Amino acid sequence: MSYLKGLRCKQCGTRYPADQSFVCLECFGPLEVSYDYSKIQSDLSPKIISQG
Ligand SMILES: [Zn+2]
Repeated sequence: MSYLKGLRCKQCGTRYPADQSFVCLECFGPLEVSYDYSKIQSDLSPKIISQG
């Protein structure tokens, strides 16, 4: 399973594919990993609830 959507620059918001380096080519800012949080929640929420 893969929840990875890609990478996104924290400085300028430029998006990159997940196999891009971890430095923005536009502003050399740090890239943050972007996950599909809605999919993660839909998959994990039943487990989280069962764990209390
Ligand atoms: Zn940038």
